[in-house]
Amino acid sequence: MRRLCPCLMLMCLVLSATAGRAEEPFESGVGVVDITPVSGYRMSGYFSERLNTGTIDPLLAKAVVMRQGDTQAALVFCDISAVSLDVSQRAREQAQQVTGIPSEHIAIAATHSHTGPLYFGALRQHFHDRLMAEKGLDPHEVTDYPTELVGRLVRALMIAQQNLQSVTLRAGYAHEDRLSFNRRFHMKTGPVRFNPGHLNPNIVRAAGPIDPEVGLITFTSESGANPQAAIVAFALHLDTLGGSLYSADYPRYVEEVLRESYGDEFVSLFVAGTCGDINHVDVTKPHPEGRRKTHEIGTMLGQTVSDELPKLDSVTKPALAVEQVIVEVDLQQYTDAEIEQAHANMARVDDSGLAFLERVKAYKIMALQLRGGDTIGLEVQAFRLSDDVAIVTLPGEVFVDLGLAIKQASPFETTIVIELTNDAPGYIPTRKAFAEGSYETVNSRVAPGSGELMVEQAIRLLNELAMQGDKDGE
Ligand SMILES: [Zn+2]
Repeated sequence: MRRLCPCLMLMCLVLSATAGRAEEPFESGVGVVDITPVSGYRMSGYFSERLNTGTIDPLLAKAVVMRQGDTQAALVFCDISAVSLDVSQRAREQAQQVTGIPSEHIAIAATHSHTGPLYFGALRQHFHDRLMAEKGLDPHEVTDYPTELVGRLVRALMIAQQNLQSVTLRAGYAHEDRLSFNRRFHMKTGPVRFNPGHLNPNIVRAAGPIDPEVGLITFTSESGANPQAAIVAFALHLDTLGGSLYSADYPRYVEEVLRESYGDEFVSLFVAGTCGDINHVDVTKPHPEGRRKTHEIGTMLGQTVSDELPKLDSVTKPALAVEQVIVEVDLQQYTDAEIEQAHANMARVDDSGLAFLERVKAYKIMALQLRGGDTIGLEVQAFRLSDDVAIVTLPGEVFVDLGLAIKQASPFETTIVIELTNDAPGYIPTRKAFAEGSYETVNSRVAPGSGELMVEQAIRLLNELAMQGDKDGE
């Protein structure tokens, strides 16, 4: 165990660092499994109880397993709002047993679709307890979805491993700056506000940037001319649809566009970049022009990706390796009086008579109570695919500045940063945003500075992987 700083926030474990040898072939395989819950399940995304009434398109878990020599690594991307720590731990442990992939080499990420199930956390607990108290049963949870999900994630990983074959990699970025907007604004009157509304005359300017880079990695079998799968990473909140029907949101249209070029078997592995403060609302235009539809967003992004894929650089010397660290950070602290108030306000979490941020604060404090403890371990993983290509995974809804800081400092030419991986401890704002306030900071559980500590560790892991790569290459 290495201490990083004298304060309570410290790093604990570096669990693994193994590397595939550059001369070994690089293999990958993809597995896709349906993770749509039964109809009628609770849906996530907002602060009221919302029951599912059907399905537009199935929710999927898409796994990619990579192997080079003795090194194996895997990523799973799920069409749900978040992956709970319980589900990711169980799935990673079970997957390790059946596939031999070390659990610390497995990342399970959510795309953050707001049209998926609400299956864990303080909000689910509240709605479930309320029904149990009223009726003695909860008809919206007739199945144990978390356990079903674990089984399906493991299956996706097993299928992906069975599909392993030698591949060539290509990687790089497309550029897309028409679809995403920083949703926090400096206002003429008062502090920073999130989602201030279309054409609000008090808006001065956005309080943060966007990330217009679309991170891309393609996997092409050695016998094939076209890729069979591609990681597509974009920092834009998946909340473009709403309603009570299950859907993967705009990424399904990205896949549709790419299948026009690469066939129906092609798998688009959509990844949520760091988009805690990014959405699709253009406040400089009136409603509804200022809100592109799901189909339009996905199709435009798909076209941008499709145009770029043939131009991507080939990865000449793949060198698979994974490093992982758990950054132990402080959780926010509340007084007994505040906790008592939160209990009372939680009963009104879906009551618009109570101010929105009061409801958010009650939910956040209840989420902290549910988790318990004074600190939380934030897991950071770094996957090296080659001397030029790396992937970083982070838990929580991470502010874009934090992802940009990792990408800017990364020694890898292409660095993809994925949020909402393995755990969902709410928003991870920057120190600057904590000072500015507004919704995301009220709905955050970690202490200010936690995000910057994750960034520091992510950059350290990337540098270590780059240095190991140099040594391997000597
Ligand atoms: Zn969201």
